[in-house]
Amino acid sequence: MNPLPLNQKKGKVYLVGAGPGDPELLTVKALKILRKANIVFYDDLVSPRILGVCRKSIQMVYVGKRLGVHSCLQDQINDKLLQAAKEHNTIVRLKGGDPSIFGRVGEEYASLLHEGIECEIIAGITTASGVASSLGFPLTHRDYAREILFLSGHKKDGVNAEGFKNLNCIGKTIIIYMGLNSLGLIVSELMNSGNDKDTKIAVIQNATLETERVFTGNLENIEWIVEKNQVKSPAIMVVGEIVRFYEEMKNLKNGCASILSPI
Ligand code: SAH
Repeated sequence: MNPLPLNQKKGKVYLVGAGPGDPELLTVKALKILRKANIVFYDDLVSPRILGVCRKSIQMVYVGKRLGVHSCLQDQINDKLLQAAKEHNTIVRLKGGDPSIFGRVGEEYASLLHEGIECEIIAGITTASGVASSLGFPLTHRDYAREILFLSGHKKDGVNAEGFKNLNCIGKTIIIYMGLNSLGLIVSELMNSGNDKDTKIAVIQNATLETERVFTGNLENIEWIVEKNQVKSPAIMVVGEIVRFYEEMKNLKNGCASILSPI
């Protein structure tokens, strides 16, 4: 396809991050553009309350692509965005978290720019930051973690096993996106890499939402814990000593609560 002639160019496409779920974690910039949008293309992980900030009269198009469920191919999404740019002024492509983190934003950005369509990326709060604040722990801490690693459990053609090979967890906070379905393989890769079976891991479902659930364990027992509690997607994993810090702070918080409200 050749780029549109200048006189045919119309809209601008905004590739926007919706944050991890809690509508209050939407950025002001994202909110402003959503209120101005003529059409919004959104994913599964965008909460209905966030979609609710858009004007009622506009077109809302679902282009979800959750693993294993109905999927709208990336090329089809790119085509839909190109078409919308010819018909509307303000087009929003709304993605969970931060669009630049495991959000395929690069593919959409490149496809639009190749066709001469103006577009802009608007940052969102990624699930890692959202979950850290919602549970009450930092991603880095001078005594626990001096590095952060964001890893995807999944790649284009299956499990990202290589990502976990020879990975030493000491001194790091490792955040695993899209890892729930491959948890067994991930933990065995981490143990084969020499990490102690007691290495801490937390699994958080529906982070930042009212339905948030947190389970902590170690590399040896986390699969069993996840299965027993029927943890479902979306879920994110946190590996490293920072999980111990989280547990310590949680105990202190519970202590504060009982001091504040004696029975
Ligand atoms: N761009 C997103 C990540 C997209 S990949 C971001 O920056 O957060 C999708 C994965 O993100 C899910 O499989 C899950 O691992 C994680 N995720 C997204 N929203 C989540 C939520 N509310 N709770 C737990 N995990 C979530």
